[in-house]
Amino acid sequence: MIKINRPKIPNIKIYAEKSESLAPELRANLLKLIDENAVHFPDFVARLKDENEKFTKAEEETLEAINYYADPENFKNKDKKVPSFTVYKNKELREHIRTLFNDKCAYCDSVFLGNSTADIEHFRPKKAFNPFKDGIDEKLIEPGYYWLAADWHNLLWSCILCNRKSNLDQPNVEGLKPLGKKNRFPIAEETKRIRSHNQNLETEKAILLIVDPCADDPDDHFVFPVKEEKDVGIVRAKIQENAQPSKKGEISIALYGLNRTKLVADRMEAGLDLKSIFMGLLDSIEAFSRKKNAGEDTSEEIEKFKFQKKRFQSKMKKTSDFLSFKKMLLEDFKNFPQLQRLGLTIESLLE
Ligand SMILES: [Zn+2]
Repeated sequence: MIKINRPKIPNIKIYAEKSESLAPELRANLLKLIDENAVHFPDFVARLKDENEKFTKAEEETLEAINYYADPENFKNKDKKVPSFTVYKNKELREHIRTLFNDKCAYCDSVFLGNSTADIEHFRPKKAFNPFKDGIDEKLIEPGYYWLAADWHNLLWSCILCNRKSNLDQPNVEGLKPLGKKNRFPIAEETKRIRSHNQNLETEKAILLIVDPCADDPDDHFVFPVKEEKDVGIVRAKIQENAQPSKKGEISIALYGLNRTKLVADRMEAGLDLKSIFMGLLDSIEAFSRKKNAGEDTSEEIEKFKFQKKRFQSKMKKTSDFLSFKKMLLEDFKNFPQLQRLGLTIESLLE
C-alpha cells in the first residue's frame, strides 16, 4: 500500500452541476432529518429551505439515501423501495479515481492487467458494515455509511481480491481463510461508531483499526522483511515505538488479505526482477569504465547502460506495482559493494 494524497473534489458534472429539483415533500422531510449543525453537510438545511435551490446528482443521491436510511423502519420494511446507489459508477468519476490511484489497487498496490477489472470501492461501506471485532466476521449491521455512498473522499480503486471476500491461502498459514474487505470495517470502540449523517466522522477516524491509504502513511504500519530470503514478498506489521507491532497494520493484513499466496509470489517476482535489473545496470557501468580506461570503444556499453537505466527507472515510477516494498529493497541495495566501488548512489541512478 502507498500513501495517496487526494486532491479536492473534481470539477465534474455529478459534483458540480446543480440540475436536480427535489419534490416539496422530500424537502420537508429532509428538513426534519438533517440537523442545522451537521458538520458533514454545512449548507444543506439553508439550501433545502430555498424552494428554488437545485442540487447536484451526487447531492440528490445522498439526500435520497438520508431520507430512506435515517428512518430504521424503512430499511426493515422489505417492501419499501431501497434507493439505488449509482453515482459512484459514473464514468467521469471512475476516470478520476483510476488516475488518482495510478491505475493500481489502493490496498495491495498491484497493477491491473489489461484484461482485469477494478472495483470502485467504498472505504466506509455504504449499506451495511461488519464490525470484524477481534478478526471475526459478525452479523452485518444496517445501515452502513449511507451518506457517503457518493462521497469523493470515500471512494477508492481496488482489485477484486482486496475488495471482495474469498477463501484464500497464505504462506505459513494452514487452510483457507476468508480474506478481502467487503463490508468489514473495524474500529476500536464500537460505542463510538458513527451511525448517522448528523454526526461528525472525525471522532471515528481516530479509532479506526485499518490503514486508510488516503489518510495514513502506510509506511508507518507495514514492513517488508527484505533480508530474510524465505520471507521476501511477505508483509508484516511494523514494530512501533512501544515495541509492539502496529495493530492497524496487523488487522489490515488480515482484512485486505495482503499476504495471500499469489500476491506474495507477485511481490517476490517484482523484487527479483528489480534486483536483476539493478545488477545489470551496475555491470554495464563497470564494463564502461573498464573499457574507457583501457582506451577501448565503449559505444556498446553506453547503449546497454541507457537501456538498463530506463528499465530500472520504469520499475520505480508511480504507476509501477509494489512501490513501498521496492523502496525497502532499494535501501538494502545501498549496501551492494559494487555500488560503493563505483562511487554511485541509488538516487543518482533514478534521476
Ligand atoms: Zn488489491
